[in-house]
Amino acid sequence: MREIEVKSALTFSEAKRRYTLSPYVGCTNSCVYCYARDYARRYREMKWESEVVVKKNIAEVLRKDIIRKKPGYVFMSTMCDPYQPIEEKYRLTQKCLEVFLEFPLLEIELMILTKSTLVLRDLDLFKKMKKLTVGLTVTTDDDEIRRIFEPNAASIEERIEVLKTLKENDVRTSVFISPMLPMDPEKLSKMLKPYVDFVFIDDMHYRWRVKEFYERLGLSWALEDEFFEKTRRRLLELFQK
Ligand code: SF4
Repeated sequence: MREIEVKSALTFSEAKRRYTLSPYVGCTNSCVYCYARDYARRYREMKWESEVVVKKNIAEVLRKDIIRKKPGYVFMSTMCDPYQPIEEKYRLTQKCLEVFLEFPLLEIELMILTKSTLVLRDLDLFKKMKKLTVGLTVTTDDDEIRRIFEPNAASIEERIEVLKTLKENDVRTSVFISPMLPMDPEKLSKMLKPYVDFVFIDDMHYRWRVKEFYERLGLSWALEDEFFEKTRRRLLELFQK
């Protein structure tokens, strides 16, 4: 872990018309396909596989940014999983949520995305937030595949349980089926449908990075356009039913 102090918390993306908020840079979930390093251009010098940068003062800086910057949609996070294991120690994500709650009049729209069960720790805070969506990334229905591609993240079953609990507590939920890994779309949609309000589907970016990995596993077919198109079409049909 490398602790740093930052001057800015909210980063505006012109392309996506939204702010991003990342309490950490880097992530010990160790997903094989991780794109976070591509968003973290300012941190090129860090050892991506073994280092996590901790933005120690992010909550204090966020408070200033909220006052100083134009209100807008906030996405948490692009450069890490905001509920990766070190969040248990540093609680930076939790502190940021508490800062958002200091500004109820602004009704800031927030989207949280995670693969961790730790997200449920903040359920009481979520219940106080009016414009919040909590998203879980679920890339396959097959936990064997999950273990190969996302070795340190929660199991599929655990993520579904998280979605279920959020839904039972009236928290708006979403699922990111991104990147689509080898899967049975029928099974996956059946598992998720009762517990999600929004579904985002995307194929694999930076395919060149994982090409060899797929080849070694004999899964090259799952990196072809045909697989992504067919799976996306089927998922859309199933979720729209
Ligand atoms: S959870 Fe997200 S940020 Fe973390 S390693 Fe996986 S893809 Fe990267």
